[in-house]
Amino acid sequence: MSFPYEATLAWAQAQDAADPLRAFRDEFLIPPHDGRDGYYFCGNSLGLQPRAVRAAISVELDSWGELAVEGHFKSELPWLDYHEFVRDDLALVVGAKPAEVVAMNTLGVNLHLMMVSFYRPSAERHAILIEGGAFPTDRYAVESQIRFHGYDPASSLIELEGDEANGTISMQAIERTLAEHGSRIALVMLPGVQYRSGQVFDLKAIAELAHRHGCRVGFDLAHAVGNVPLQLHDSGADFAIWCSYKYLNAGPGAVAGAFVHERHANAALPRFAGWWGHDKSSRFQMGPQFVPIPGADGWQLSNPPILALVPLRVSLEIFRRAGMQRLREKSLKLTGYLDWLVRTQLADVLDIVTPSEPSRRGSQLSIRVSGGRERGRDLFEYLMQHGIVGDWREPDVIRISPAPLYNRYSDCIAFIEAVSRWHG
Ligand SMILES: *Cc1c(COP(=O)(O)O)cnc(C)c1O
Repeated sequence: MSFPYEATLAWAQAQDAADPLRAFRDEFLIPPHDGRDGYYFCGNSLGLQPRAVRAAISVELDSWGELAVEGHFKSELPWLDYHEFVRDDLALVVGAKPAEVVAMNTLGVNLHLMMVSFYRPSAERHAILIEGGAFPTDRYAVESQIRFHGYDPASSLIELEGDEANGTISMQAIERTLAEHGSRIALVMLPGVQYRSGQVFDLKAIAELAHRHGCRVGFDLAHAVGNVPLQLHDSGADFAIWCSYKYLNAGPGAVAGAFVHERHANAALPRFAGWWGHDKSSRFQMGPQFVPIPGADGWQLSNPPILALVPLRVSLEIFRRAGMQRLREKSLKLTGYLDWLVRTQLADVLDIVTPSEPSRRGSQLSIRVSGGRERGRDLFEYLMQHGIVGDWREPDVIRISPAPLYNRYSDCIAFIEAVSRWHG
């Protein structure tokens, strides 16, 4: 990158002062450390709380207290339609049409619901392709679906192994795997951003390739949503799922999301149905026959958790005001700065696993500590004790993610200084 970076606090603070998005930090509660703001680099795991959430939840608690059942119709934002109030902003964040997205359930539940519809194995085509070292829930979900259909993961689960120096996966490796196994793969299920390495995948290229081989394609966007700009509709993916508590800042265990491409909007796909997915105009006739709402809404099961949708609505509204493009511009500079600092100041101590090309990473840098796992653990504990919050992923990775909504250039200096003090 060609930014004229400097490794001084004064330079970083000048960037913070000139940052067009700097005011957004004030909309979040920054966890304190020793009576001052801590340095929070863990938005990849749990995003910070928007200050507006508490009052917005109180509004719904008041409606419940004052209106009770009538809150479904008479609340300022009627509960009956509440999930629709997040739809447009959600569509913006993932680059989809509003009817292609729905906020519901949690990631793991949505992954299963989507596989019920889009993993339809046959004797010739029964395999699922995932990345080696996939997030455990994804692996467990995929394995259990394979078994549920009577197949054996030993032959029906194909894992893409990393072929690049740091264990990341090249597009060529995906092409080779599909050339070899494509005819027996029913579903390609890859991440938008790999959780351990931080690698960004080219969703459109993968979806086109997989479709050429006759496979269905789904993406897990847990680490991508709210982190990198997405064009889900244009990617052509059949479905995608994500959680909302990481970069989306919608709170612990937040209501997750799902995308179903519009070409499936009216398709007679098998699905696990529930009354909230039924045609709205006849839902309360309580008839025996399920008539799905066209689009992603038709996959809903239940009357949604209103109190849990509130923080999602508040946080998506922040994303709308900030704009994914502006967030990405800042993120490129901010993560680029941290990357530059590590490479120029700490090259003998830290090794960055995440691809160095800006187009192949989001906010997160995955870092290994020279000297091995024990040294890595030691540094991680030291950082946490000194108010620098990242996270640890076995076997040997520290993840540090400056989030453009609330992190500062000066936070990156604090990280570098802490590592230098630890190193002595
Ligand atoms: C965070 C994450 C999950 C978590 O799933 P939940 O159902 O929200 O507990 C799953 N998969 C990936 C890839 C993740 O990053």
